[in-house]
Amino acid sequence: MAVQQRKALGQEAKVEKKIDAQVGKTWGRDRDVSFGTILISLGILVLSPLWVMYTYISCNGYSCAMSAPALEVYNASNHLEALSTLLVREMPKFSPYATRLFFSWLLFQAVLYTILPAQIGYGQRTPAGHLLPYKVNGLLAWIISHAVYAAGGLYFGWWNLSIIRDNWGGLLIAANLYGYFLTFFCFIKAYTFPSHPADRKFSGSFIYDLLMGIEFNPRFGKYFDFKLFHNGRPGIVAWTMINLSFAAAQYQEIGYVTNSMILLNLLHATYVLDFFYNEDWYLRTIDIAHDHFGFYLAWGDSVWLPWMYTLQSHYLLRNTVNLTPIQFAFTFAVGFTGYFIFRSVNHQKDIVRSTNGECMIWGKPAKVIRTSFVTSDGKTHKSLLLCSGYWGLSRHFNYVGDLLISLAMCMTCGVKHLLPYFYIIYMTILLLHRIQRDHTRCKGKYGKFWEEYEKIVPYKLIPYVY
Ligand code: NDP
Repeated sequence: MAVQQRKALGQEAKVEKKIDAQVGKTWGRDRDVSFGTILISLGILVLSPLWVMYTYISCNGYSCAMSAPALEVYNASNHLEALSTLLVREMPKFSPYATRLFFSWLLFQAVLYTILPAQIGYGQRTPAGHLLPYKVNGLLAWIISHAVYAAGGLYFGWWNLSIIRDNWGGLLIAANLYGYFLTFFCFIKAYTFPSHPADRKFSGSFIYDLLMGIEFNPRFGKYFDFKLFHNGRPGIVAWTMINLSFAAAQYQEIGYVTNSMILLNLLHATYVLDFFYNEDWYLRTIDIAHDHFGFYLAWGDSVWLPWMYTLQSHYLLRNTVNLTPIQFAFTFAVGFTGYFIFRSVNHQKDIVRSTNGECMIWGKPAKVIRTSFVTSDGKTHKSLLLCSGYWGLSRHFNYVGDLLISLAMCMTCGVKHLLPYFYIIYMTILLLHRIQRDHTRCKGKYGKFWEEYEKIVPYKLIPYVY
């Protein structure tokens, strides 16, 4: 009996060892998820696409008045009949042309990503110990894409500049088709031909794994990285182009482009161009260094980002907002103060890491905590945590800058409706949740070094407040 038990235990240990080697038992994405987390995950999977559709209907049929579709159904004597009539009338329709447009755009971006000259950047070391190379050529892809869009619309007459806005519903359907396809493709790929098997994480819950992804860095070949590609292009390249298309539509409808639309375009373009100008920096942010590739990023980059991040331009097309000079100046000041903070904080982290702490922060030698951490291959690595400058004020002061820019983007729409403020509400929830996720990750990764950092810098976001 004792021998059998020992045998069984030995087999269990072998299995356990095999699983550990496979999944990389270190820090990183959650694996032990509660029933509550699974339920919330299911809610996100079901509600996010419905919410995107709802905002589409609100903007397309009700001038972006968020409560209007719900009130129409609520006030009807037969709610079910009113709902089905509304859905038939307002739901976006499948369009072969818009579908071709979407997939041509995707292909065009994939070709640019693959063939354009690129610098090679490196991400953070993964929990399994990989240090992956990335092709950094987003700025060039952005410039070429916008040049083609402008030349095709203004010079060659291939399309109308409002082409995106004109096909918005059909594009939404096509993007959803792709977002779902990509989610399930990556889910199956994670089991059948993973790019880095030891960097996969399994929670045992189909729903959670589908939402948060199993593979950390799914790739085709050495460089075609799903995360960098889908977040940057088509998602973020499209962001500014969608805005321009809505601005063009506004010009066609009212004969001029409002100062609110111009300011919105300016703020969004600053954010987007900053992203591409600093694309190498992005490789070491949480999106790339922590998130696995599931519905959250696959569908999120294909549908959520281009649709929900551009809501203000949809609003401004339906609601003409002419800002007074004071409103314009104030919104501009909030936005660019936010941008200045956002960029300066992120720059301090980048500079301290790239100089191994041998740099000046706010005119004084940087104060750092020298850390070590272990990857699942058993190797120990070194890193450092900056605890002076902005990073001495709070542990996520960069989020303060981001929130200010986001607020300014919403303020361009005036204060009549709630819908354009969805972005700042969403960003606040996203970043507060991110603080929590990052805390868990960094504590798991750095252990006592992180606790030391928390003692030196006790505030998470706003000094003396939170
Ligand atoms: P950070 O750029 O703050 O990255 C967090 C990581 O930085 C940690 O996991 C840790 O990783 C490292 N780190 C933490 N503290 C320190 C320190 N004191 N010194 C040095 N390194 C440290 O966060 P995000 O990736 O979330 O955000 C990057 C930017 O993108 C932010 O400005 C944010 O506002 C913006 N953003 C925009 C979003 C949008 O949709 N518009 C969404 C989310 C973010 P490690 O040690 O492993 O390197």
